[in-house]
Amino acid sequence: MESRYTPADIEPKWQQVWMQQGLNQTSEDSSKEKFYALSMFPYPSGDLHMGHVRNYTIVDVIARLKRMQGYRVLNPMGWDAFGLPAENAAIERNIHPAKWTQQNISQMRDQFNQLGISFDWEREIATCSPDYYRWTQWIFLEFFKAGLAYQKDATVNWDPIDQTVLANEQVDADGKSWRSGAIVERKQLRQWFLKITDYAEQLLTDLDQLTGWPERVKLMQANWIGKSVGAYLEFPIVGMAENVAVFTTRPDTVYGVTYVVLAPDHPLTQRVTTPDRQAAVDAFAQEVSTQTELERTAEDKPKRGIPTGGTAINPFTGEEIPIWIANYVLVEYGTGAVMGVPAHDVRDFVFAQQNELAIVPVIIPEDGDAAAPLTAAYTESGVLVNSAEFDGMPSPAAKQAVIQKAEKAGWGNARIQYRLRDWLISRQRYWGAPIPIVHCPNCGAVAVPDAELPVKLPEDVEFSGRGASPLAKLDAWVNVLCPTCGTPAKRETDTMDTFMDSSWYFLRYPDAKNDHAAFDRTKINDWMPVDQYVGGIEHAILHLLYSRFFTKVLRDRNLLNVSEPFQRLLTQGMVQGKTYKNSRTGKYVIATQIKDLTTPIDPETGDQLEVVYEKMSKSKYNGVAPGDVIKKYGADTARMFILFKAPPEKDLEWEDADVEGQFRFLNRVWRLVTEFAPGSGARSQGSLSKPEKELRRSIHIAIKEVTEDLQGDYQFNTAVSEMMKLSNALSDATLKDSPVYAEGIETLLRLLAPFAPHIAEELWHQLGHTDSIHTQPFPILDSSALVADEMTIVIQVMGKTRGTIQVPAQADKDAIEQAARNSDAARRHIDGKAIKKVIVVPGKLVNFVVG
Ligand SMILES: [Zn+2]
Repeated sequence: MESRYTPADIEPKWQQVWMQQGLNQTSEDSSKEKFYALSMFPYPSGDLHMGHVRNYTIVDVIARLKRMQGYRVLNPMGWDAFGLPAENAAIERNIHPAKWTQQNISQMRDQFNQLGISFDWEREIATCSPDYYRWTQWIFLEFFKAGLAYQKDATVNWDPIDQTVLANEQVDADGKSWRSGAIVERKQLRQWFLKITDYAEQLLTDLDQLTGWPERVKLMQANWIGKSVGAYLEFPIVGMAENVAVFTTRPDTVYGVTYVVLAPDHPLTQRVTTPDRQAAVDAFAQEVSTQTELERTAEDKPKRGIPTGGTAINPFTGEEIPIWIANYVLVEYGTGAVMGVPAHDVRDFVFAQQNELAIVPVIIPEDGDAAAPLTAAYTESGVLVNSAEFDGMPSPAAKQAVIQKAEKAGWGNARIQYRLRDWLISRQRYWGAPIPIVHCPNCGAVAVPDAELPVKLPEDVEFSGRGASPLAKLDAWVNVLCPTCGTPAKRETDTMDTFMDSSWYFLRYPDAKNDHAAFDRTKINDWMPVDQYVGGIEHAILHLLYSRFFTKVLRDRNLLNVSEPFQRLLTQGMVQGKTYKNSRTGKYVIATQIKDLTTPIDPETGDQLEVVYEKMSKSKYNGVAPGDVIKKYGADTARMFILFKAPPEKDLEWEDADVEGQFRFLNRVWRLVTEFAPGSGARSQGSLSKPEKELRRSIHIAIKEVTEDLQGDYQFNTAVSEMMKLSNALSDATLKDSPVYAEGIETLLRLLAPFAPHIAEELWHQLGHTDSIHTQPFPILDSSALVADEMTIVIQVMGKTRGTIQVPAQADKDAIEQAARNSDAARRHIDGKAIKKVIVVPGKLVNFVVG
């Protein structure tokens, strides 16, 4: 019976059936091995974009495959639902963030279902829901009780017109407020931090365990943690009992220290400043306080500083050296002070030249000349000069020797320093989980008792974007009694960074409905770690590092057993669309406004347009809406294209012609199966004919290749190619009434099922099956089918191909040579000639060398 492939009919039908039959739900069958497949959950912006489609399709193929391979699979989805956009929507459109978020969630949930993603919606979570953030708050208190959450002063962006704190995203590139346009100021506020630095070494060394992670991501994490091994040294201040403390990775250069630099807001700055320098130091400190960290430290930004008038002693040389302050030294990093070694540090060299500070070379190349003038900083290792008893010593040995001398003299010691800093989690915003702390005048910061969690966000709130945060303005909410002593006290009005919500969400899914604990220990230890995590490279550092940190702290609090949350990580590439760019004006042109797309011209300026692929975005007019593709071709085609077009970790260029190509392939599969009369392959099983053996070999090669492609590295693109080859072999086959042909048809559908789940299910049922294809086992290789009966051998005479022969597949070297000698192809050219040599390459060719 002829029928047309119409995705719009079959896709919604099967989505409904799967939902009704609970096919997407997590199996609790403990006899099966577990597989936890996890996609990075999205921010509910309201619209699924192609990047999402790629991420979630990849995970869905893995989940469906693992179910067919006999695992119990957890494939959950949720919403990273707190954050700024909802609050901005509230300010701009006067809609409550909760309502706006809920609307977006239900819209996106529908879009996921249209794609045929097999999420277990029974375990859906939203981080903005009180049932979830109750446990985010509880986990915060675990950190607090462990001494890992503390308060200190830190800088915020301050809008002086609206009198409000701004998030970094609300400050534009010119340093102005998104709403008022005011130049943003820097202001000190008391805020909450998590002590991630306590775990710096573990977070670094445990990267070695993550063998299923991309090397590039591990390197990015290691660099972020930034371990340096060196020395802590103290420079006594002249006329005071204190020292300027510094950290250096180059103690071998200590004889070249000609000045020290403090951060302008270092506690010692005011005390070392001499009266004649006071006004200048204050003015400079004020000016620096308005600069961002990037402006102060970026390599290409000017490094500026002034002397304080104070001096210190370089204890190694005994000489007096000036104490400066400079913008590039940050008080919150390391000791808040650095030693200046202009001869051996690029930045210090420039700074010393600008400010006429002494430059003393103390390291020279091994065969270098100590007297040669220095034209640039020499930053390599070498041999020490001008360094008293260390002269002639190579740098590595000198590092140790200098540290030993410092230790003996009480000037310092060996030290390890990390670039990683504690995590600032306070946000002065409404749409986040309230920090569950009460500030009492007697007891200080007091944890809200467990029984009173969650500290709920009040709903009746005014969103103006001006003044204190919405929570701080609600007196009725803020004023409470201290849980410990009953004195009138005040609630903390900061909410938590949304990275807090996403640092443990993967621990909630295994036990998503638990209302008396964040998760059950047994369930977590059963499901964790995540077997395959898939998400964007933009989360390579913070989200993954924070999740690893949370897992380790919760392990140390005896709440779970694993040390690392994610066994394997796949970072999928971007989805790029075609853009038409005017490289002179930098503007993008909409494709529909261009007359001739083969030689595109800017309709406004007449310039030739450049055609480039870039990440899809509204401003570049190169986005493709998933809904449009589904409407035109169906979800299965969208999925197949995304999987076929590029390996998952590479960027993918959207190409309509290739989408069309996948639609044609699915149509071919449709015809192949619908033209095949069910039951006609029932001929009794005897020994197979030669063409049957050939076809069966093609079937099992496809099984072998697809199975290998889907192990570990997930090469979906080559797996799809193998399915195409199998469908071609089936099209070409003449023996359509053979049981081997039937085996081929069913194998093709079962291989295809994880990729194009709807069409595979529909055709499976059309073959007469009544149960779901997604509950069938994935095809298993019969390696005996791979053995060919015969092989083809090329006959060459003097290197020239003269024909081919067929020999039994198991023929050895001698048998092949004999068959070749007897073949007509060879005899026509060798008969009557002296054979000097016969070269036999088994499985390939026989070459006769004749005289
Ligand atoms: Zn109290």
